[in-house]
Amino acid sequence: YAPDTPLITGMRILDFLFPLAKGGAAGIPGPFGSGKTVTQQSLAKYSDAQIVVYIGCGERGNEMTEVLDEFPHLIDPNTGKPLMNRTVMIANTSNMPVAAREASVYTGITIAEYFRDMGYDVALMADSTSRWAEAMREISSRLEEMPGEEGYPAYLSSRIAEFYERAGRVETLNGEDGSITVIGAVSPPGGDISEPVSQGTLRIVKVFWGLDAGLARQRHFPAINWLNSYSLYPQSLDQWFRDNIAQDFPEVRIELSGLLQIESELQEIVQLVGYDALPEPEKGILDTARSIREDYLQQSAFDEVDTYTSIQKQHKMLFTILDF
Ligand code: ADP
Ligand code: MG
Repeated sequence: YAPDTPLITGMRILDFLFPLAKGGAAGIPGPFGSGKTVTQQSLAKYSDAQIVVYIGCGERGNEMTEVLDEFPHLIDPNTGKPLMNRTVMIANTSNMPVAAREASVYTGITIAEYFRDMGYDVALMADSTSRWAEAMREISSRLEEMPGEEGYPAYLSSRIAEFYERAGRVETLNGEDGSITVIGAVSPPGGDISEPVSQGTLRIVKVFWGLDAGLARQRHFPAINWLNSYSLYPQSLDQWFRDNIAQDFPEVRIELSGLLQIESELQEIVQLVGYDALPEPEKGILDTARSIREDYLQQSAFDEVDTYTSIQKQHKMLFTILDF
């Protein structure tokens, strides 16, 4: 099946600017502390998949403990049932063996395929695929294989591709519709995405949610950079948004993201001459763009109400901003 239905996440910047299709794959690269784990956990809590597989791969144990403590108290906003009913967790924290770390990602995706074959929409999060790649590197070097770029095995990028290629939407043997959506966190050392794991991931995924250390420092959360992130799915998803949310949803997206683009150009002028010296129409653009950033794109994962926004509410918020 072609991916024509979005995975609705309740995170405004994702649903609106960089939507991910059910059956698609996304990468979230970002330096330490930029919000990879918070974003992944938020997707595990609120995205409208029927089954969620959460792989804690080589990260701190306390994060996995938090998930185990918190999830049993949460309710799935899409069904009203306990969140744990739909959640599978695979824990391989940093203190656990590397061979099991390499296996954890395969275990997760195999479980996801099992549920997909039953006709469910499955979403899989892997935090972090960089630790998985490091496990591969360690095992490969103990096997005395020839090292490739930065000591990773030469087959690193094909392994990464083979993992993300297991995402997809299928017709099951009994004629039902099942999908696996894969969302992988990547932790490039120093946030530099020219390294092999980030590059191998970006070559294969169609959605890039780029976390930005600068935004995180300014406490703009989620720290997803709206200027360099992208999604290649809007063309295939726009019909769904038109039919299910609003006829002009795609046009609103183009208009508002255009304003953000112009804002970034105007900001250079503002630094030279100051806001007050600008003509009124430009001031209007800056004020609107600021409202998009501060009222719409910023979203606290720790506020009871703000943490999840239904797609209908998102649409109303956007129209209010556009009206302004
Ligand atoms: P990483 O996994 O990339 O190292 P984390 O996901 O642990 O980073 O995030 C680091 C900190 O950033 C969090 O503890 C939190 O304080 C803040 N943060 C990240 N995303 C959000 C968000 N959406 N809302 C509020 N705070 C956030
Ligand atoms: Mg983390």
